[in-house]
Amino acid sequence: MTNDIYGPFPGSTEFVAALTEGQRARYEELGTNLDVVERRIADACAAAGRARDEVTLVVVTKTYPAEDTALLAGLGVTDVAENRDQDAAPKAEQCRNLPLDWHFVGQLQTNKVRSVVRYANHVHSVDRLRLVGSLSAAVLKAERPELGCLVQVALDKAYGEGEHRAGVAPEDVAQLADAIADTPGLRLDGVMTVAPLTGPLAGDPARAFDRLAEIATAVRADHPAATMVSAGMSGDLEQAIAAGATHVRVGTAVLGVRSPLR
Ligand SMILES: *Cc1c(COP(=O)(O)O)cnc(C)c1O
Repeated sequence: MTNDIYGPFPGSTEFVAALTEGQRARYEELGTNLDVVERRIADACAAAGRARDEVTLVVVTKTYPAEDTALLAGLGVTDVAENRDQDAAPKAEQCRNLPLDWHFVGQLQTNKVRSVVRYANHVHSVDRLRLVGSLSAAVLKAERPELGCLVQVALDKAYGEGEHRAGVAPEDVAQLADAIADTPGLRLDGVMTVAPLTGPLAGDPARAFDRLAEIATAVRADHPAATMVSAGMSGDLEQAIAAGATHVRVGTAVLGVRSPLR
């Protein structure tokens, strides 16, 4: 017998009652982990003098099955993120009736763009001009609402360095932000970063996220509606919230340690 956890009423008593024993155990585990993360976010907001509703939790479900995504929806999670279209597209399809907002946070190849715009409402990882044209063409062709785009900033990248690392150098953010804002089908939502592993800001997420906040402020001077600041993961969400992050992307702390094989 199959139970439908992909139905339209997650969180209802019926939802919990319909779970198999295994699903119930995972549901409880995810719920406990979410409680811990929620407490961390609330404490970080309080410490920063910020309202809790200024920060959105985006749960990064990469490498975990669609069933976990459905259980998370049942637990009240509204925003999920994936980093590989190959995994995300079938999961999003399976979860299409759930009230979830899908974020794409991985490096995006242009040949995956058409697929990604079918399910994602936000792409956090816009890192080159060429992607802007591809995303726009795909959005217009899909006749879907505007796609929210964030410029991914590589805080450890020097000006003019090659195009292959994730993100643009801080000096190149304004140009990419302007291009997104000027392109049909795309909406400039803000900036995103991952705390750098190399360079002067490595090992100092607080300073890295302060630097991102400066960049975000500069972007907002030209684009006042670009208010999203996507920063902070399982290990450094407190520093990100202290620096003004509006979206934290949390995987491990909710779902557990990912298999190193993936
Ligand atoms: C995997 C991933 C995360 C989540 O990282 P955790 O340390 O598991 O919380 C956040 N952002 C991006 C871009 C990721 O790829």
